[in-house]
Amino acid sequence: MAEQTAEKIVKTDEEWRRELTPEQYQILRQKGTERAFTGKYYKTKTPGVYVCAACGQELFDAATKFESGTGWPSFYQPIRSESVAAEVDRSHLMTRTEVHCSRCGGHLGHVFPDGPRPTGKRYCINSASLNLIERQEEAK
Ligand code: FE
Repeated sequence: MAEQTAEKIVKTDEEWRRELTPEQYQILRQKGTERAFTGKYYKTKTPGVYVCAACGQELFDAATKFESGTGWPSFYQPIRSESVAAEVDRSHLMTRTEVHCSRCGGHLGHVFPDGPRPTGKRYCINSASLNLIERQEEAK
């Protein structure tokens, strides 16, 4: 189980640049977007928990992942409401809601109001911002 703490993680741009891959840095720290249908998780159905690729905070349970057809991993809710923070994003001549990790501030993707039940939300997330911790079978 990844360590859960309310403490924020603050690092300098140089530290993030050193710790993340160039693709992770571009997406998590510069609010980039991976090309659709190219990320490592858009098709994944493996049970487990998706954690922040930058700081390890738990973000989404694989049980809430659904096939959106967009080419990005899509979830209908975060694992805890406080794990994912949102803010208005007016870039690219659109008004969208950007979502980021509440612990390290790393950019994850956007949330849209066209998701499935029970929430009606679609968290459209970059694979590069996530690491899947696969769930082990319960010992009998
Ligand atoms: Fe994080």
